[in-house]
Amino acid sequence: MRTSLAPLARARVRRLTFAACSASGALGALGAFGALGAFPERLTAQASYLGYTSTSTATQRATEDRFRDAVSATSLSALHRPLSRRPHPAGSPGAAEVVTYLQRTLRSFGLEVETFEYRAWLSHPRRVRVTRTAPTVRELSVREPALAGDSTATHPDLGDAFIAYSASGVAEGAVVYVNYGLPADYEELARLGVNVRGRIAIARYGRSHRAVKVFAAQQAGARALILYSDPADDGFVRGPAWPNGYWRGEQMPQRGNAKLSWYFHGDPLTPGVAALPDAPRLSTANAPTLPRIPVVALAWGEAQHLLSALGGPVAPASFAGGLPFTYRLGPGAAVRVAVDLDDGLRPIRNVVATLRGRDAPDRRVMLGAHHDAWTFGGVDPGTGAAALLECARVLGQMARTGWRPARTIALAFWDAEEYGLIGSTEYAEQWRQQLQDQLVLYVNTDMYMRGRFDAGGVPSLRDFVVDVARTVPDGSGTVYDGWRTAEWARLPRAQRPADSAAYRPDLKTLGSGADFVPFQDHVGVPTLSIEFIGANGYGFGTYHSRFDSRAYVERIADPGFVQGVTMTRVLGTLALRMANADVLPFRFSHYAARLEAALRDVPTWGDHAAGQGAPPLDVAPLLASANRALQLATSLEGAIGQRLANGHIPPDATRALNDRLARLEQLLADDDGAPDSRWYRHVFYGWNIYSLYDGQPFPGLAEAMRGGDRARVTHEVARIARALARLSTELAAALTIAQARET
Ligand SMILES: [Zn+2]
Repeated sequence: MRTSLAPLARARVRRLTFAACSASGALGALGAFGALGAFPERLTAQASYLGYTSTSTATQRATEDRFRDAVSATSLSALHRPLSRRPHPAGSPGAAEVVTYLQRTLRSFGLEVETFEYRAWLSHPRRVRVTRTAPTVRELSVREPALAGDSTATHPDLGDAFIAYSASGVAEGAVVYVNYGLPADYEELARLGVNVRGRIAIARYGRSHRAVKVFAAQQAGARALILYSDPADDGFVRGPAWPNGYWRGEQMPQRGNAKLSWYFHGDPLTPGVAALPDAPRLSTANAPTLPRIPVVALAWGEAQHLLSALGGPVAPASFAGGLPFTYRLGPGAAVRVAVDLDDGLRPIRNVVATLRGRDAPDRRVMLGAHHDAWTFGGVDPGTGAAALLECARVLGQMARTGWRPARTIALAFWDAEEYGLIGSTEYAEQWRQQLQDQLVLYVNTDMYMRGRFDAGGVPSLRDFVVDVARTVPDGSGTVYDGWRTAEWARLPRAQRPADSAAYRPDLKTLGSGADFVPFQDHVGVPTLSIEFIGANGYGFGTYHSRFDSRAYVERIADPGFVQGVTMTRVLGTLALRMANADVLPFRFSHYAARLEAALRDVPTWGDHAAGQGAPPLDVAPLLASANRALQLATSLEGAIGQRLANGHIPPDATRALNDRLARLEQLLADDDGAPDSRWYRHVFYGWNIYSLYDGQPFPGLAEAMRGGDRARVTHEVARIARALARLSTELAAALTIAQARET
């Protein structure tokens, strides 16, 4: 392996002289040496795109301009309407109608259209009842009433608000308020002498996935769990509520699934394999992701009739929500929860449209969004799906003139995302080997709305996203300008560089909550998530209520579909830029630098496995290994930059190099994770379930430390070491190809 310092130093010099030719390229190399986040910006105007020669940059610029100029707000608005006309949860007649609309529309754009059908375990509501039985009897509503200003709530397809995969049954008992319902809240309750066993827990939404709350309630011995949306978290305390504003109103319960997805994602009965009709299936009694207690969701307008009736100790300050009374822990009120769900195998359908590549039809870039919705799906997923449809329309229009991308571009519309990423997961499980061979990039978008650019993904794609964001106009500047300013403003004051123009934003680590999960965590392909989000992130005011409607989109989320135009341009530019690149624009120097930074953090994680007085985990060998990868990657990027600057890209060697670059991510995943969560194969990135949808570096190690499992910590450290070694070996192999004189 070539890790002596001499070639490295040369590579550095090369990068800097190369700056005149490719500013973005040089910035990427500088990034590997500078402190994360603080980089000089705009040394020169953007000349060549990352991964392109100067000649191919000119052609690409013209192609992208054609795409961006053709994106239309009028078209977006028209494409969105049928996506939000009728409630369309997975497995419903409304969902079948949306699938037909997608197939017909995508075909009319001139794209090849395929449908992938599975049989998934889905739950639909028959009847949900929540009755306060003491101090006085009061029936609590689980249906949103009609609302002046948004007539959608009266649609005949709409049923009771429910929590998918809740156990069916009746539970009755005294009510205890458990704050956010997280393990720390139960510890606090225990300290205060409040017992939850045999009682009904009521928890507010926020700070973690609802499934974590269900699991914690089960562990605490609660008979049932009531989830509600407190106005302090997403209601009037934060700002004007719909129909007057962005935030959640008095009668807007949040639906959702409560599957314990940290074991695996997708269909609860077919872990690791596609849910085809003849697939082996778990029995529901043995399916680990299914909750075991009844769970219901209430709007605060209903939940207040329980909370205000509670006696017992006054809740600690950290438990107090935004309703105008003193929060108490209980008991003092009692409730009867009756859940009757119609659970069963139902068909789900993914629709995938394809525009075949001219040079490498068997190498693909895929964009994805889901099409199922808890109700109308105005924002979630109507906005994301409409942007993807508009992408498809414009690509189809360009293809009519005979143009083709170099690599294939696919646009996927997933079903049953709301039930826990089922459509995307079953597809990824079915086509795992093909995806690993062919997919060079997966880009997910769940939704967008007026707000800040929100980009996540594996670190090798950071420079690529920066490069693309710089070319998409937004307001008086570019998407990149807005991204940088917003991320700078979100930094804690002490960490903010004085000059926001010198700050360089980064991709956030992907956790959970949308269809990127099977691609990054299970298949291990290079993955991005691209959205624009408002003040409360993904939890916009009408999220998962009946009022996530077309009216909410027109008045709050994206009046005039102006944001949609920018969103579509970003998605299309990402797809075209990756599909046509001479050398795939991955930057593993940044990946290695991010791993180094994360490793330096590990000793501060609070090692419950170390025990009292034990020395902190020694990460020095791992750091040395990450640094070795950093040096190799920097040399590789220097060699690639040199080739692009010379315009010398021999086809055979470049194809081999591109395949190594695209497939490197897979080598960072393995089958050696914890036995109960082996579906999550990525060693470096995953989901931190205790902080909602946040990503977690080294998820296996983090879980082992949190759980105090010394043997597991040792195993995970060795696992990380092996993955880092594979990273270096592969970078060295790529470097050999990139440095070869002639092929
Ligand atoms: Zn969604």
